[in-house]
Amino acid sequence: MAKASAANPRLIAAAAREVWRADRLGTVIAGIYQLLGATAALGVVAAGKLTFDALLQPGQAALGLTPALLLLATATALSGSISPLQTQQHRLLGERVSQRVWDRLLDTTERADLVTYESSGFATTLERIQQNALTRPFAVTAALLGLSGGMLGVVTLSAVLVGVEPLLVPVLLAAGLPAVALSRWASRTEFAFAHRLTAHFRRRNYLRQLLTQRPYAAELRAFDSAGPLRERHRLLNDEVNSALRGQVRRRQLIAALTTIGVAAALTAALLAIVELVRRGRIDLAEAGAAAIAVRLLSGQLNTLFASIGGLLESAPFLADLERFVTSGPPAPPKGRKRALTGGVVLDSVSFRYPGQERPAVDSVDLEVRAGEVVALVGENGSGKTTLAKIVAGLYDPEGGTRRWDGAELPAPDVRASVTVIFQDFVRYQMSLRDNIVISDGTRAGTPEEVAEAARRSGAHPTAGGLSDGLDTMLGRDLDEGVDLSGGQWQRVALARSLYRDTGLVVLDEPAAALDPRAEHELFTDVRSMLGGRAALLISHRFSSTRMADRIYVLDAGRVVECGTHDELIARAGQYAELYRLQSAAYR
Ligand code: ADP
Repeated sequence: MAKASAANPRLIAAAAREVWRADRLGTVIAGIYQLLGATAALGVVAAGKLTFDALLQPGQAALGLTPALLLLATATALSGSISPLQTQQHRLLGERVSQRVWDRLLDTTERADLVTYESSGFATTLERIQQNALTRPFAVTAALLGLSGGMLGVVTLSAVLVGVEPLLVPVLLAAGLPAVALSRWASRTEFAFAHRLTAHFRRRNYLRQLLTQRPYAAELRAFDSAGPLRERHRLLNDEVNSALRGQVRRRQLIAALTTIGVAAALTAALLAIVELVRRGRIDLAEAGAAAIAVRLLSGQLNTLFASIGGLLESAPFLADLERFVTSGPPAPPKGRKRALTGGVVLDSVSFRYPGQERPAVDSVDLEVRAGEVVALVGENGSGKTTLAKIVAGLYDPEGGTRRWDGAELPAPDVRASVTVIFQDFVRYQMSLRDNIVISDGTRAGTPEEVAEAARRSGAHPTAGGLSDGLDTMLGRDLDEGVDLSGGQWQRVALARSLYRDTGLVVLDEPAAALDPRAEHELFTDVRSMLGGRAALLISHRFSSTRMADRIYVLDAGRVVECGTHDELIARAGQYAELYRLQSAAYR
């Protein structure tokens, strides 16, 4: 925390730069309002002096009482009307700053590789940043503008007061110092509070998602589990409330101490003015103008110190955000798509998830030649999906090599050259066409290409049955589309994989949601669907992978057997045993 405080000036300068970069014109306009505000405050003091003069020394006054009063009214009205204008301008600027911060955050999450993304530290930090840092830029924008406006006001009003009595200025300024110290204290308690509650907020958000989002609605109702989940939600609310009460009490104490400081300074300054009049150092008109100036200066100082406080309070959160957006690895270069002419070969590949003792994939040799259909079978947790992610370039092997046509390609090139459809593929709440073409942003597919992918994957009848064909919106999450059955969605995902048109396709349980007839058709006809592309098929249903050119049997991360279906049956090993068990279950 001390580190964050030490870095304050740098962070505040960085925050100012962010605001400027987010919207230059908006910043300039906001600056002009600040200038107008300070000028109007000066106008009030000057018009006040003229009014007092006209009242007290009608003979010598520069202006008559009526014009002086008119001037005072105008200046006061102007100074009052700037604030709502500023508020609206800050709204605009705040939105732009928040958009810029979001963009930086999304840049960071976009370039984080899958291993980083899946690590628990990443998710927690991201959550904390979303909770805190993303609402801060608006506060920082307002604080920065308040700071500049406040400084301008303080300088001009101080200049006026120096003309009357120089001593008044340091009295008022000194009162601000405790306010700054108190702000630093507030900032520390606020950051510690946010840190302490991040886990609570994550859990509470998760429960809110469970309780409100569509994918969970059916199971929650079937199990009648909303009640127990609400109970957990209530307990979390209670804990948040009790922590928040403590924090609010601390902040109220700080606010009270600040108010006492300001009141004391104001009293001291006004007493000083009375004393000056008593001693005959200033006349009554000057005293009146000085009282107005003191009142306005105190207001400006309040703004100034509140702004500094706001900036100090936001500094640790900004540091958190800054650390996060600069911590990630640099953006990987764009991958180059390669054709597959020879094959993909894994040689003694191992991979361990961070924090895990046992490798999920252990010294695996595997080969997929161009045009081949290769199957990975094995029980749950045997490492099939992890291996598929290595083949697809989503994870790099920790040990061993991954060769593409004989060369060890960088992961981005592998990713660009392989297509993967996961078991829990995404159901984009977009049009059917978008659901297909999203797999390849490098080309604007022609309607024929999209239709061809849909036809091969069997998604075409679905398209035909939809009111707007390929333009029909899919999914009900956004309340605007039609929902598909699990099997239909799976066909759409397959169409997506074919549209991308790479030499190797990895399909993780591609028939999990299909009915037995559709599954049978898919696997017996998989080669014509693939149109010559090589495929790595993952399945725990052994019957569906019989036709593969080669079958790898995984167990606890290792390849225990490999061969064609007939070879593996003849071998009478693990495959033969599991195959027999599954067939027996069907008979
Ligand atoms: P399969 O696809 O055969 O069911 P997986 O490749 O998903 O197997 O998992 C292999 C092993 O790795 C399992 O023990 C699983 O718990 C572990 N594992 C999978 N994903 C992760 C992850 N993101 N972090 C840590 N361990 C994981």
